[in-house]
Amino acid sequence: MRLAFFGAPGGGKGTQAKRVLADAKAVQVSTGDLLREAQEKKTPLGLKAQEYMSKGALVPDDLVNGVLRERLTQKDAREGFILDGYPRTVGQLQSLEALLAELKMPVDKWLFIDVPLDAIEDRVLNRRTCKKCGEMYNLKFSPPKKEGVCDKCGGELYQRADDSKEKLAKRFEAYKKDTIPVMDNLRKRKLLTEVQAGTKKAEEVEVLVRKALGLKAK
Ligand code: ADP
Repeated sequence: MRLAFFGAPGGGKGTQAKRVLADAKAVQVSTGDLLREAQEKKTPLGLKAQEYMSKGALVPDDLVNGVLRERLTQKDAREGFILDGYPRTVGQLQSLEALLAELKMPVDKWLFIDVPLDAIEDRVLNRRTCKKCGEMYNLKFSPPKKEGVCDKCGGELYQRADDSKEKLAKRFEAYKKDTIPVMDNLRKRKLLTEVQAGTKKAEEVEVLVRKALGLKAK
């Protein structure tokens, strides 16, 4: 399937994408992850993106659109993809729709995972991610067995530089200003499927997501 997941920063779109990838026969395409990889490798794009990401601001459309085009034209994306964190502006939406029309691979479903903003802070501030395999933990709700170490692969856990209170506030602002209009655009065209995640646990949200996508229950 070809899918795009929307939601507030830290709202669980990446978590849900990972949970349904195999059944949706898709690869996960997270622009945040792609940009962080570029940063880690210190490529010119990565260094440029870092200026924005470290402030909790959006990376300019032309840079992100380039990254996305490169990723979606790779062979594995032909089978299916879940976009996670893209498109985040109306400009990105237009660029994406043009690219997918050109590649003849339109999105099957645009899914908004709606989580109340006040439920998110606790999640984001306590989030830790494995450097090696990307597994995510929450120090309050789902801590690793051993502090700082991934249960799955033994990798080192780290806190994202933009997962601080101050940066999160900036990311919310960007979400309200730039990304809510993307969803309004899709909603007006009757293209947006919405799931009310409330403060439900990831397992429970997954049930709703699977239903919305027409995937088999787990
Ligand atoms: P979250 O959704 O929790 O904020 P992401 O990993 O998706 O986490 O994004 C982290 C940061 O990466 C964003 O704050 C922004 O700086 C940058 N970024 C990711 N995707 C995009 C995008 N589509 N457009 C612009 N900037 C992006």
